[in-house]
Amino acid sequence: MAYATTNPYTGEVLKTFPDATDAEVEQAVANAHDAFLAWKETTFAERAKVMQAAADLLRKDIDPYAKLLTIEMGKLFAEARAEVELSANILEYYARNAETLLAPQELPVASAAEGKARIVHDPLGVLLCIEPWNFPYYQIARIIAPQLSAGNTMLLKHASNVPQSAAAFERLMREAGLPEGAFQNLYATRTQVERILNDPRVHGVALTGSEDAGAIIAAQAGKALKKSTMELGGADAFVVLADADLEKTTKWAVFGRHWNGGQVCVSSKRMIIVDEVYDRFLERYKTGVAGLKAGDPFNPETTLAPLSSQAAADDLKAKIRLAVSHGATATEVGPDVPNQGAFVQPTILTDIGEDNPARYWEFFGPVSMLFRAKDEDDAVRIANDSPFGLGGSVFTSDTEHGAKVAEKISTGMVFVNHPTMVKADLPFGGIRRSGYGRELLGLGIKEFVNHKLIDVV
Ligand code: NAP
Repeated sequence: MAYATTNPYTGEVLKTFPDATDAEVEQAVANAHDAFLAWKETTFAERAKVMQAAADLLRKDIDPYAKLLTIEMGKLFAEARAEVELSANILEYYARNAETLLAPQELPVASAAEGKARIVHDPLGVLLCIEPWNFPYYQIARIIAPQLSAGNTMLLKHASNVPQSAAAFERLMREAGLPEGAFQNLYATRTQVERILNDPRVHGVALTGSEDAGAIIAAQAGKALKKSTMELGGADAFVVLADADLEKTTKWAVFGRHWNGGQVCVSSKRMIIVDEVYDRFLERYKTGVAGLKAGDPFNPETTLAPLSSQAAADDLKAKIRLAVSHGATATEVGPDVPNQGAFVQPTILTDIGEDNPARYWEFFGPVSMLFRAKDEDDAVRIANDSPFGLGGSVFTSDTEHGAKVAEKISTGMVFVNHPTMVKADLPFGGIRRSGYGRELLGLGIKEFVNHKLIDVV
């Protein structure tokens, strides 16, 4: 069975789910299309009522919703609660703002004789979203809240290790009053995903996941002439300038690299420290990482979660070995992680030469790459020397100067004195191999609409 809940802390297989049948997939597309024909005629106020109700339900039942995340992919329970709250915030954001964000835009005309031109934003129809396991609810909320608010309907293919979280979100939206068929979870196979994309009733796909999956789905969407957005991997730079407050900076570095077990597309994966403060930063950072407590993600004392699966832990260890075989130094830090659970010993990689392919990889777990930069310009050069371009951050006590350095970093998001942050009211997305398109805010809600010109002459 491909779709299954396996607790990554205990290793227990808790529940398995059969793949969808072809008939179920066909029915789901038909239902989504029928639902679209009615949903697109609803008012923004009616859609907002559903989004707000979903946000309220999530907040009311925050603990049971959070528990499922910790069981299925191992995140710390406190982080699971924060994810439920963030998902509620996103739903609420669109309940409050969708109508304004999609308001028709009057175009300036040179003279009254030319008449009046405006752009309206019509929904496209049924969309497919393909999501990863690292934030099982947030990833769904980030795409369905704007797209349902715009009047589209959605099919979900979630990661195979979080089938219960996917089903829980589908139930949530029904309980919130969303009409049947407007958002459906499918335990779809890859062949079925491709068939869905080729169905003329389906008008686009949003994928969040790895570069490999992005390249395949983008190609399939291109071949079918369907709009796509790609939210892919990242290797965010965490630039430390000479005047940074090292105590605060180190705390953020430890957090930025290790929250969610280090499995975040915008984790602070590459620490780039100017020579002047490199040694002092490294000592403090090692101490900070050594202070992490790996263990049961339900235990409030635990600060380092297991990885999402034993396979993910094994892959990460193999990647560390490969980086070392190409000349990097790997230093394991802190007390031994428990034998039980999909843990990887926190590891700091240094001496990662320009000819080491690992320099350009994404390590998805508690592995930090540290780079010594000659000076600020060199730090910016190293930051931009990456196939990815998702987030990044700059640490300095001169925030105005920090913003100038941020302008030189070529990614979709840069933060001064904070690791890349995720909030309901900030846009999200990257460039280069981190993908294309944006999610959230007005940028996200306008990805899958027809920007239609109406010109009254
Ligand atoms: P993944 O293997 O690419 O999986 C993501 C989703 O794509 C899953 O639902 C997966 O289904 C599906 N998938 C993979 N190959 C497919 C194919 N050929 N056809 C149809 N569906 C396919 O990614 P992951 O390892 O779960 O997630 C980690 C990656 O996601 C990292 O690179 C991370 O940086 C990135 N990520 C990016 C963002 C962002 O917003 N930029 C956010 C979070 C994560 P199965 O589970 O069934 O394989």
